[in-house]
Amino acid sequence: MTLDRLNVRKALRLSARFGRIGRGLLLGLRTLRWKLFLSYLLVSIIPMFVLWGNTVNIVESHHIEQRALEMRFVSNQMATFTANDDYINEIAVRGARNHHIDSAAQSHSARILVVDAMAMVLFDSFEMLYQGNTLAGAGVLQALGGVQHSAMPDSRTITEIAPIFDEENAVVGAVIVTHSITDLDIVLDSINELTLGFILLMALIVAIAVMLIAQWLIRPMRHILSATQKISEGQLEERISLKSRDEFSDLGLAINDMTDKLAKVETARQEFVSNVSHELKTPLSSIKVLSESLVHQENVDGAVYKEFLIDINSEVDRMTNIVNELLTLVRLDETELPLNISHFDFNKMLEGVIKRLRPLAGQRGVSLEFTEHRQIHIEADEMKIGLAISNLVENAIKYNNPGGHVKILLDADNKNAFVTVADNGVGISEENQANVFARFFRADKGRGRETGMGGTGLGLAITHKTILLHKGSIKVASKEEEGSTFTVRIPLHHRA
Ligand code: ADP
Repeated sequence: MTLDRLNVRKALRLSARFGRIGRGLLLGLRTLRWKLFLSYLLVSIIPMFVLWGNTVNIVESHHIEQRALEMRFVSNQMATFTANDDYINEIAVRGARNHHIDSAAQSHSARILVVDAMAMVLFDSFEMLYQGNTLAGAGVLQALGGVQHSAMPDSRTITEIAPIFDEENAVVGAVIVTHSITDLDIVLDSINELTLGFILLMALIVAIAVMLIAQWLIRPMRHILSATQKISEGQLEERISLKSRDEFSDLGLAINDMTDKLAKVETARQEFVSNVSHELKTPLSSIKVLSESLVHQENVDGAVYKEFLIDINSEVDRMTNIVNELLTLVRLDETELPLNISHFDFNKMLEGVIKRLRPLAGQRGVSLEFTEHRQIHIEADEMKIGLAISNLVENAIKYNNPGGHVKILLDADNKNAFVTVADNGVGISEENQANVFARFFRADKGRGRETGMGGTGLGLAITHKTILLHKGSIKVASKEEEGSTFTVRIPLHHRA
């Protein structure tokens, strides 16, 4: 293998490793803790840096202004000084006074020049460098015109030029003061360093504080996350306990509530499945016993055959009944469009239900009485409401005594229709009243068979579900051995 190839492989391995580290870092940065940390940091550090920049600027311009004022004062002072005793024209006077101007220049770290009305330099504190030269710049000309000139020819030099007036107020010359402010840089640099150091220290303190705060804020979230993971794995007994009173504890409560409901649904599901198996097992074992006894007996009489087959047939009917009712319930459980809404005559529908049940009532010696208070038209699923009320009337007949009665009453207000089905039959005990609408509930499991009706315990569950789907309500009032009254309320207008 050549050296080049080896190097390429090494490079590829390295880039893959860095890629992995990078991806890991990116994933880490996606966590809420890091997001909180970074945003807090940005919010607190950026203003500090802005403040830093502004502070340095403000300090700098303040110092420059002070120096400019000082130089203006020096230029004016020197202009007054040179106005006396004909300084401009008298060489002897100049000779005697220049040292004073010189010491003023020294003490203010400035360079001072004096020019006459022709802009010729009479004095230069910088080793008389420009003496005899003419300085006819715009600033000098402005001052010779009688107006003070202030300028900063570059960011580090201040120039102040003051006119010199004689006793008649005529301009006889000008004083030029130039001053370098490079010494300010040292001050500004140290201010800069100090502020930056302070900001970095603050940034460090803020970063540590923010990290701790983020950790503290996220802690309940982690707790919630681990609990919800357990719940989603099926540990439905897991609950979240949060001591704080904030949004996290509200979330925890909501999740606990949801888990309670999930646990209930799960228990109901298990109960339902075991009920279904149990309910189907009974007729199946009857069929098995009946058919086996036929198979194992020899020379069985034709009449016995027929009797056994009739029993087998009725067990098959019972199973069919259970399966059909279960299918009805499953359809009602479907969330999408379980109802087929139409506008129909409620009185007529109820009359039909009662007419169909009259033969059964006659068979059991129970009288049926129907009272209609008004004509009602309603928006509902006609077939399902018919079945729901039929279940109630059928029960009132089934769980009745010979000679008993069933009274059906139909009424309405401007919003709801009310149907009452009252009987004076066997009644339902108080503790059973809470369960009558549960699937597979039967107060007395043996009685269905005795009455020859083969009750499945699903009828009232179907009725209940149907009424709830119509956004109505159903109530039961009953007393054992005195009878039961079921009251149904259905809105006249359907709301999806
Ligand atoms: P099923 O009648 O098929 O057993 P239902 O769901 O219709 O099932 O009724 C459940 C149980 O409620 C019945 O088994 C019976 O014990 C009780 N029940 C229902 N209606 C009445 C009633 N009008 N009077 C007395 N008991 C009733």
